[in-house]
Amino acid sequence: MPGYLHDAVLLYLDQLVDWDGYFRQRKGDDTDVDAERAALRGVLETCAELMSGIEPGSREGWPNAAKLLEDGNVELPAHVQAGYDALREAGLTALSISEEYGGFELPTLISNVVIQMVSRADAALMTVMGLQGGVALDIQKYGSDELKERYLPGFTSGELQGAMDLTEPQAGSDLGAIATRAYEENGEYFLEGQKIFITNGGSQIHLVLARDDASFEESKGTTRGLSLYLCPRTLPDGSPNAMKVEWLEHKMGLHGSPTCAIRFERARAWLLGARGEGFRAMLDLMNNARLGVAAQGIGIAEAALQEAVSYSRERKQFGVPIGDQPLMKNMLSRMIVGLEGARALLYRCSVLIDRNDAVERYLAREDVSEPERAELQRVYENNGVRIRLLTPLAKYIATETCDEITRMAIQVHGGIGFMAETSVGKLHLDGIITTIYEGTSEIQVSFALKEIGKGALQIVFEELLKELGALQDARLHPLADRVRQGIERIGEAAMALIKDFNYALLSAKGVADMTICVIAGTELLRQADADERRHDLARTWINTRMAELEMHAQRILEGDTSRIERCERIVDLWSE
Ligand SMILES: Cc1cc2nc3c(=O)[nH]c(=O)nc-3n(C[C@H](O)[C@H](O)[C@H](O)COP(=O)(O)OP(=O)(O)OC[C@H]3O[C@@H](n4cnc5c(N)ncnc54)[C@H](O)[C@@H]3O)c2cc1C
Repeated sequence: MPGYLHDAVLLYLDQLVDWDGYFRQRKGDDTDVDAERAALRGVLETCAELMSGIEPGSREGWPNAAKLLEDGNVELPAHVQAGYDALREAGLTALSISEEYGGFELPTLISNVVIQMVSRADAALMTVMGLQGGVALDIQKYGSDELKERYLPGFTSGELQGAMDLTEPQAGSDLGAIATRAYEENGEYFLEGQKIFITNGGSQIHLVLARDDASFEESKGTTRGLSLYLCPRTLPDGSPNAMKVEWLEHKMGLHGSPTCAIRFERARAWLLGARGEGFRAMLDLMNNARLGVAAQGIGIAEAALQEAVSYSRERKQFGVPIGDQPLMKNMLSRMIVGLEGARALLYRCSVLIDRNDAVERYLAREDVSEPERAELQRVYENNGVRIRLLTPLAKYIATETCDEITRMAIQVHGGIGFMAETSVGKLHLDGIITTIYEGTSEIQVSFALKEIGKGALQIVFEELLKELGALQDARLHPLADRVRQGIERIGEAAMALIKDFNYALLSAKGVADMTICVIAGTELLRQADADERRHDLARTWINTRMAELEMHAQRILEGDTSRIERCERIVDLWSE
């Protein structure tokens, strides 16, 4: 049974990533790439061991929730605190912080695998540690030198924790509705307003999206006029800032993760980045966090799968293990194929981000020749387009797949799966939120559609076609042909969508599913080319998902825009 350090991860560590190119571009030609790779493996092995150790305590402690103490601090339940302390001791709390501030500066792929492992052991613990890298990166990217020096070492050591404060009662998916005000007085900033549903809201450092008071009325309802602020609970002189945790939410799952309402009462804050550019700065954090949540979905799904496969082997009915029944085999294999497709998309997107990070650093050198610079600039921009499309798709598919797999794992358990003592029910309840926070699935597919509208498919497909053409194993070529046909069908369907924006929105999930089918299909073929044990995974993904792709394509190509009115009439039946 795959452990925390899954075979698929090792495939990326050993074969599917050009680590040589990555490290040389990132750190210079004299980098000892073997030593760097060994260090990455060491991080993953340490994390795998730690997480398999904390898993039993996490399952047992699952119902225990965080508490708001009388002194205004938030206390984590003992099992989450113990997990955090273990990660902190291993230096695994803020993975991507620059080496300049004592961090590991891990590649995105590796930090997402760490997040995946943590989530497999304890999804609530992931929300506490997973945020840290993103918050610290935003400070690193947009903060003044003073702020970086004041706070980043604390993130590296794990002493400081951060939160990301966007949501307000009237501003959920629509961040243009944010009404928390930022006042400027003699070059200092103060925040007033309320945020809700803030994960880890008891932490010291809050990154807050707020609307500038000076342009409040003219920017209201838009993301213009929003700036990003760093708001600490304790001011540099040690006095408390004018902000408090008002209450903690009671949730159906993820109990160990504190979800807080925060009140800012003219709290002192520091601007991150330029005024009015806060939404853009927050998008950096959000994109990072979206992939983190995708990794969380994969981790939770792995945990559920592990439970389901074990149970299917132990539980006997009609004289045989239930796992021997053809229907059960089909269900379990669907779960595994779904998981591997979602994983393929997440890892592919993470690798692209790493590639671009390395290129960006290389381009900052002065000794790059003009032709090489121009070529790398082109690669950088094309990869940027790919990342902007793959990020929402990865978040959407990984979290929806997590929801399906954890639900199916309950089914595999039958009646005992519905009992409070069984892990799979808890995993399902933890997993549902992944389809909601960091932007719901509907918002993710709408973002993806927007990128498609800007022409992303052409650039994404160009790369897929190259990779399909490069597959070595001739047994995979007929499957590659099917993916090529899928790419063509998506092109035809996309043309039909251009005509009507609302029709395109109505079809956004279908378009996302089709696009995911060919991207993950290609990535699974690359994996199968490197490891023949993965042929069946690629074959089954392509066989099943291509049939669905065709169904979506036909429906879209019908061009029946009256479907929107039909939906409205059907909903009206429930509104009369
Ligand atoms: C446990 C938990 C932790 C959270 N942590 C944080 C945090 O740390 N920081 C933070 O800022 N926020 C946090 N949130 C808030 C979370 O990001 C929001 O709940 C989420 O973005 C959805 O917003 P909403 O709840 O207002 O739902 P709404 O925006 O009201 O959406 C309701 C439904 O309408 C759909 N919908 C909305 N707009 C559209 C559209 N244009 N097209 C199609 N469908 C649409 C949505 O998909 C959803 O199905 C957290 C929430 C929870 C539950």
